[in-house]
Amino acid sequence: KSVVAIVGRPNVGKSTIFNRLVGERISIVEDTPGVTRDRIYAEAEWLTTTFNLIDTGGIDVGDEPLLVQMRQQAEVAIDEADVIIFLLNGREGITAADEEVAKLLYKSNKPVVIGVNKMDNPEMRQEIYEFYSLGFGEPFPISGSHGLGLGDLLDEVVGYFPKEEEAEMPDDTIYFSLIGRPNVGKSSLVNSMLHEDRVIVSEMEGTTRDAVDTHLRKDDQDFVIIDTAGMRKRGKVYETTEKYSVLRALKAIERSDVVLVLLDAETGIREQDKKIAGYAHDAGRAVIIVVNKWDTIDSGDKTMKEFEKKVRAHFQFLDYAPIVFLSAKTQKRLHTLIPAIRTASENHAKRIQTNVLNDVIMDALAMNPTPTVKGRRLKVLYATQVAVKPPSFVVFVNDPDLMHFTYKRFLENRIRDAFGFIGTPIKIFARRRQ
Ligand code: GDP
Repeated sequence: KSVVAIVGRPNVGKSTIFNRLVGERISIVEDTPGVTRDRIYAEAEWLTTTFNLIDTGGIDVGDEPLLVQMRQQAEVAIDEADVIIFLLNGREGITAADEEVAKLLYKSNKPVVIGVNKMDNPEMRQEIYEFYSLGFGEPFPISGSHGLGLGDLLDEVVGYFPKEEEAEMPDDTIYFSLIGRPNVGKSSLVNSMLHEDRVIVSEMEGTTRDAVDTHLRKDDQDFVIIDTAGMRKRGKVYETTEKYSVLRALKAIERSDVVLVLLDAETGIREQDKKIAGYAHDAGRAVIIVVNKWDTIDSGDKTMKEFEKKVRAHFQFLDYAPIVFLSAKTQKRLHTLIPAIRTASENHAKRIQTNVLNDVIMDALAMNPTPTVKGRRLKVLYATQVAVKPPSFVVFVNDPDLMHFTYKRFLENRIRDAFGFIGTPIKIFARRRQ
């Protein structure tokens, strides 16, 4: 999929445009509150084309002076995007910071489309001509708050997309990525996996632009490891910023079936680990928690149980994720990882027959009667699975407002127990049906 980045000064309306373009793909997704707050990377759609969109405004590095921030944003966009939307404020004209960014973008030779924002009514369109002087061709007047002009802008953007040449992989290939803070051992673990017994590694041809994917095969199953933040060290300044590695992680997560969240047994759990794990959870991918560097711990069943307790306490939102203890360095217990990835991936794509599902729902209703809210009782009629990756279920009820969070959670747990969805989140939505 092609990647589009939005760059521009603070307050030109990057987030507004970002949210407009991303929209809500499926409104039911809103049901699930995420762990992470800021969205800087998401899938967007225009006519029949889907692409990935980056809001570089989310990547700013806090206290840096404006010009430095702008330069970093532009660099991220130039590195990561196929097409760049350069957003300006039509009411303010071209500022010195804009010109600075224009220079960088110009040198990059990436296609740039100029969006002139805050052109809320037609009289303002006079102002557009000055933006030709930036040298990127026709500027597009838009209004983020009114949603005007975006179609023309997107037509132009989509026109620049390169032809996709993803490597052909068999359909049942499992895509996975490794995420974790620097030095948890992501690169080491990838290396160890590639040198495992009976693992066949092959170069991938025609992989997407900047990702370094590795294909491997074990026990007749194909896998692709997707490159993540920190795995390639290219040594640019902005790569050390946290938000930038987050962006790389988000890109990798988006293409994954299974995400391995790496922890470091030696240093223990840190606040940053939780945030990183939250991204995998919010994306609805299958998740495995990998506790690496287990060789540094005086290992016994007891230490493992204790560490597990700590992990469970810190990552309550990942209660479905199995925990694998291993050492990338000594390869101890490494052989347990690939089977765990397979299981999680199978569960992530699992379909439950409607009649079997409803047997479980009816049993659950008998076990724990539905709640009554203000004298009205929740009635559950039937349930059906509407999606996989992750498995998503719609429960038809008399009134969704009566479906209290705790009851939903109860049904979710019943479904989990019945079908063993180890490693994958599942989603449940209540819908009205008379
Ligand atoms: P990344 O930044 O997450 O890719 O981490 P690296 O793979 O570069 O590893 C960071 C450091 O941890 C290196 O010095 C590795 O040798 C070390 N390391 C990685 N895995 C293990 C392990 O299982 N045990 C021990 N003791 N050290 C490890």
